[in-house]
Amino acid sequence: MAKQEFKAESKRLLEMMINSIYTQKEIFLRELISNASDAIDKMYYKALTDEKLVFNKEDYFIKLTVDKDARTLTITDTGIGMTKDELEENLGTIAKSGSLAFKSENETKDDHTIIGQFGVGFYSAFMVADKVTVATKAFGSEEAYVWESTGADGYTIEPTAKDSAGSVITLYLKANTEDESYDEYLQEYRLRSLVKKYSDFIRYPIKMDVTKSVPVESQDGEEPTYTELSEEETVNSMVPIWRKNKSELTDEDYEAFYAEKRYGFDKPLKHLHLKVDGNIVYNAILYIPESTPFDYYTKEYEKGLELYSSGVLIMNKCADLLPDYFSFVKGMVDSEDLSLNISREMLQHDRQLKLIAKNIQNKIKSALQSLLKDERDKYEKFFESFGRQLKYGVYSDYGMNKETLQDLLLFTSSKEKKQVTLDEYVSRMPEDQKYIYYATGQSVERIEKLPQTELVADKGFEILYLTDDIDEFALKMIMNYKDKEFRNVSSGDLGIESDEPKSEEEDRANAGLFEEMKGLLGGKIKEVRASKRLKSHPVCLTSEGELSIEMEKVLRAMPNGQDIQADKVLEINVNHEVFRSLKEAAEKDKEKLSLYTNLLYNQALLIEGLPVEDPVDFTNAICKIMV
Ligand code: ADP
Ligand code: MG
Repeated sequence: MAKQEFKAESKRLLEMMINSIYTQKEIFLRELISNASDAIDKMYYKALTDEKLVFNKEDYFIKLTVDKDARTLTITDTGIGMTKDELEENLGTIAKSGSLAFKSENETKDDHTIIGQFGVGFYSAFMVADKVTVATKAFGSEEAYVWESTGADGYTIEPTAKDSAGSVITLYLKANTEDESYDEYLQEYRLRSLVKKYSDFIRYPIKMDVTKSVPVESQDGEEPTYTELSEEETVNSMVPIWRKNKSELTDEDYEAFYAEKRYGFDKPLKHLHLKVDGNIVYNAILYIPESTPFDYYTKEYEKGLELYSSGVLIMNKCADLLPDYFSFVKGMVDSEDLSLNISREMLQHDRQLKLIAKNIQNKIKSALQSLLKDERDKYEKFFESFGRQLKYGVYSDYGMNKETLQDLLLFTSSKEKKQVTLDEYVSRMPEDQKYIYYATGQSVERIEKLPQTELVADKGFEILYLTDDIDEFALKMIMNYKDKEFRNVSSGDLGIESDEPKSEEEDRANAGLFEEMKGLLGGKIKEVRASKRLKSHPVCLTSEGELSIEMEKVLRAMPNGQDIQADKVLEINVNHEVFRSLKEAAEKDKEKLSLYTNLLYNQALLIEGLPVEDPVDFTNAICKIMV
């Protein structure tokens, strides 16, 4: 067969592998063993679910062999193998493998992070080898093929002879360089320690021929002499990590499992090892990742846990095990209560699975609660990555899960700009504070400068600064927390007795002027009013009713954006000098009044983070005043 080109993305990744300066080249072995184990899983599953097939446990194994003269390392498995098409598909393209979805946003990152972020799969072989062959025979097929490649220039596939199903992957190790010795991958102790480090819990035996010194029978009185014997040995312990006792395991073990399974490319913030024995019986290892997967807040992200039935993998991503609001959790569940033959549709209705899901959900919740209580720094890190998802969880499904989630929320507080829980906020509210106050905006820095916050802040009341689109919607859904209602600082009634209860008087006294200004603004606002909350700023916009200006912004920006309007009120600070000029203009110069009114309105828009309606008009107006 003529040489085939790799698909474009694969070629790029391959080049990265070949030229990799990646310090952890050794992980290639983990990747290849993991593929071998996956292939045996598939075979094992077939054998278990098809009565016509008879297999012995001894039929499943992985073997590592070295040839020091030829400088090759071979990984043999008795898995399901690949057909010619599968070879083409799986080793000619990467995007297929699911381990690598190349997105344009990653193009800018350097190769190093890409390798780190995605893990590397089969092609990692090229970090240590300059030629790789894969001889394979698919289960149930008569033909066997060998795939061969020396790197980015392409690959060939030729027929070959092979007795049984499975794959034999041979790495022709690179020549040693000054900085790097590839010979180490021919050393027994090195391979053994790599298996221990990364693949110890693989459920199938990983065998190696090891040399042993054995004493040769000696004559009486003579020193015994030794001879080297080669003997096959299983190097991994084969006990799946989730079956082991927690006391035998270290954080490093859990981290290694996380990496091996490619649950994520970060270091998990926390792991949970569950051994549940009661109404339902299951083992699970769950992780709370530290950082957001690159596709997390997109439609592409698939939630789910690996599902095993008595140690046999039956599903890669069982979505039914996790509610959407905990979709960031990674890990696996193994239960004896599930049938091996269960189909996806049946699984959805399975009572046992539902019980497990419910149980898991509670465990995750308490894990997060204790993280919040005992390891605040870690929790804040977690919340930075996944807090938005929790807030969506509060808001979605008509607030069905708000009780579960409300105590897991954090908001930036005006006090020391720290993250606080609702409970912390409420527990330190002074007696005369009626509401839980919040303010919305693009960033904490901008919210701080909002004139609307002046009165509340002056009173010394704490304000929650909401910077996420979803925040205010989530609070509206919660409605009240420990009998305290939420109040936007720019809403009509703040429940604060103003020191100067003059504003209604002022409204009456200036009714004519305010009507006139409203007319000048032609329906853009519902009312002009004397402000109770402004101290130093001349104007601000506030809203009446349920819909705030921030919510209007969010709703309008949505794909099928609703044309929804908040009822806006233009508030004037009657103690500000600007107000005197307004009054004067109203008496003497109507054109000036119109100019001032429009300027003030546009100022209020700008402060609110809304665009001025006509920038040219606006700047012209400013110039008019200057001359
Ligand atoms: P991933 O394991 O994430 O799918 P890889 O790059 O490691 O990605 O492998 C790509 C694909 O090649 C696998 O999904 C599998 O279909 C196939 N494959 C790799 N190694 C083997 C093997 N030893 N036996 C059978 N199939 C294999
Ligand atoms: Mg793989």
